[in-house]
Amino acid sequence: MNTPDIDWESIGFNYVATDFNVRCTYKNGSWGKLRICDSPNINISIASSCLHYGQEAFEGIKAFRGHDGQIRIFRLEENAQRLQASCDGLVMPQVPTELFTEAVIQAVKLNERFIPPYESGATLYIRPLIIGVGHLLGVRPAAEYEFIVFTSPISSYFKTGFSATKAGILRGYDRSAPLGTGCYKVGGNYASGMRAGVRIHELGYSSIIYLDPKEKKYIDECGAANFFGIRGDTYITPKSRSILPSITNNSLMQLCRDFGWAVEQRPVPVDELSTFDEAASCGTAAVVCPISQIDDIDTGHSYIIAKDGRPGPKCTKLYNHLRDIQYGRTDDTHGWNTLI
Ligand SMILES: *Cc1c(COP(=O)(O)O)cnc(C)c1O
Repeated sequence: MNTPDIDWESIGFNYVATDFNVRCTYKNGSWGKLRICDSPNINISIASSCLHYGQEAFEGIKAFRGHDGQIRIFRLEENAQRLQASCDGLVMPQVPTELFTEAVIQAVKLNERFIPPYESGATLYIRPLIIGVGHLLGVRPAAEYEFIVFTSPISSYFKTGFSATKAGILRGYDRSAPLGTGCYKVGGNYASGMRAGVRIHELGYSSIIYLDPKEKKYIDECGAANFFGIRGDTYITPKSRSILPSITNNSLMQLCRDFGWAVEQRPVPVDELSTFDEAASCGTAAVVCPISQIDDIDTGHSYIIAKDGRPGPKCTKLYNHLRDIQYGRTDDTHGWNTLI
């Protein structure tokens, strides 16, 4: 197996072609057999529902080369279940858990030479997706679907070490409607969020914080990541119909309970930001991304969370512990890793 000539530290979060992807077609009411493809392209009808009406959902998972050389995929079954929820949400056929896990494991094994070395801090990102295909013009769910799993190595999120960043609230944008598709991992939410994302970066912030789309009173989530705050020994994270249930957030809540900390999942008023000792966003890409300051841009109010601009001790502990599990450096007491 020849190792690809890749500078693992500099690839960032960009598409790097790997050897194979794995696909499966849904047709005539059932899923077919998994196929291995060496082309990164798809050949679909110009009238596919994914192209016109956004019938598409996806997942994001990571595979790690551990300190012991073992390859681990983090929380594979939870990702399968979440994709099933997204499929229900857009009236697409569910990808059965067994089909999903088999496709992901195959995609990882077939691209094993692209799983970055342990020391690099880089990982193999896995992107499962499902799209509505076939000739269709009217607005209705497609009859045919393509499920695809591809992989791409990505660099460690924190190139210069675990650090905190600034986030901003923009009240002129929503990523989803109060009873819309915010709780599903679908491309349409990302399309809706692009204007705000571009705007916040232009203003010099690393990420946007969305408020609840109904009252603009509560924190929803943070770009493509969930949000949490820490006050004393309590981890506080928003509960809302319009946020995507992050598997990282779910894992961190479990770790908090393991540590003996309290967990509150409830509506979090914007004003409460002023009471937090620490705050962060969380998701597969960064695990934990500490936030030092949040500016409510339209009201001019600033919430300074970390005066020294550095990650707090609890965020750091959560980040380190979750990564220790992912790299096999500590016991996986909840059975979160699938060993390949
Ligand atoms: C994927 C995603 C997250 C993070 O979920 P993880 O399972 O932790 O990666 C958070 N918010 C949105 C909108 C997402 O799409």
